[in-house]
Amino acid sequence: LSTWSAVPAGPPDAILGVTEAFKRDQDPRKINLGVGAYRDGNGKPFVLPSVKKAEEIISQSGDKEYLPITGLPEFTRRAALLAYGAESAPLKGNAVAVTQSISGTGALRIGGAFLARFYPHSKTIYLPTPTWGNHTPIFRDSGLEVKGYRYYDKKTVGLDFEGLKADLQSMPEKSIVLLHACAHNPTGVDPTQAQWIEISNIIKEKSLFPFFDMAYQGFASGSTSKDAFAVRHFVSEGHQVALCQSFAKNMGLYGERVGAFSLTTADPEEKARVESQLKIVIRPMYSNPPLHGARIASTILGSPELYSEWEGEVKGMAERIISMRDRLYDNLVAQKTPGEWGHIKSQIGMFSFTGLTTPQTKALAEKAHIYMTADGRISMAGLNAHNIDYFSESVSRAVK
Ligand code: PLP
Repeated sequence: LSTWSAVPAGPPDAILGVTEAFKRDQDPRKINLGVGAYRDGNGKPFVLPSVKKAEEIISQSGDKEYLPITGLPEFTRRAALLAYGAESAPLKGNAVAVTQSISGTGALRIGGAFLARFYPHSKTIYLPTPTWGNHTPIFRDSGLEVKGYRYYDKKTVGLDFEGLKADLQSMPEKSIVLLHACAHNPTGVDPTQAQWIEISNIIKEKSLFPFFDMAYQGFASGSTSKDAFAVRHFVSEGHQVALCQSFAKNMGLYGERVGAFSLTTADPEEKARVESQLKIVIRPMYSNPPLHGARIASTILGSPELYSEWEGEVKGMAERIISMRDRLYDNLVAQKTPGEWGHIKSQIGMFSFTGLTTPQTKALAEKAHIYMTADGRISMAGLNAHNIDYFSESVSRAVK
């Protein structure tokens, strides 16, 4: 008998499974709207010109030595500056503990593990319903208890702001709350700035601990500082925050795995203690992070020319997505598609929660070769001038 004979087969990953089905389909009209990766106007993966230039610069110099446990120091410094902004009091006061991470996923995992070990209150983290599918297993495997709070309203295909506020109010004091800093995945529904201010006030009243996941800075509005509004507002209001950053989407560095995890602390002495413990969390996981992607991101963030070029490229990606939202909305209305489609335009970031039902998504895959997750989420980046008319007609047919 094999040692592993009792291992049960696990279910396929809900998102990566969509890509597998797409790959098996041989129809030339097929469209993959499952995966959250940017595609250019021809449906091709996009390597940012600023990234190519940074790689050229890097190739002239640099060895392949190990990085420190917390990563490339100039990268983490510049990543924190990008997120918190130059005016941030904890940043100016040298009170932000920060470590490089294996992209956003690794940042979440380090944060979960650190809080499981050191958060001095109830180790329950509340996630928005729904949330990115990987949040629950990440935090559960990190040792936190996972619960939910209301976020999305099916009826309006928008934010359930009353439900959200009521749930924050009824959480036990000092609970941990996960917040998507911008471009909420999977819904594409974000609070307005005025709503963020209210959320911050409730979190303060209830002494909740805000844990930000910022995987799309710049991708939502096209502006990195506008997308950092929530994080910067919370910090300016005196909240201590945890923050996860990813450079997968905004620099197109998906497979390079570049990210950062940070905690704002009281002062430099506390920061040093916290960083010493982050190292002890990280060392047995993977010793130290990969070098190449951090060098790319650091080179871009550290060079005024590359930085402004990159900002233009992020804006370009965001604007292409926004233009696809407009066109999809116009098509659906022109085709007299039953239902209200305003949410396609008001939602933000890479994804749109279309409101399509699971049977409709199934029919789209089987009849039209269009693939998306069963919850009706589409990656707007998968749409372009060549396929958007076919996509809109197919959606229109599926709901009629
Ligand atoms: N958080 C959210 C909300 C995401 O959507 C993603 C990626 O899809 C991530 C984190 C982490 O991605 P990565 O590990 O590729 O940076």
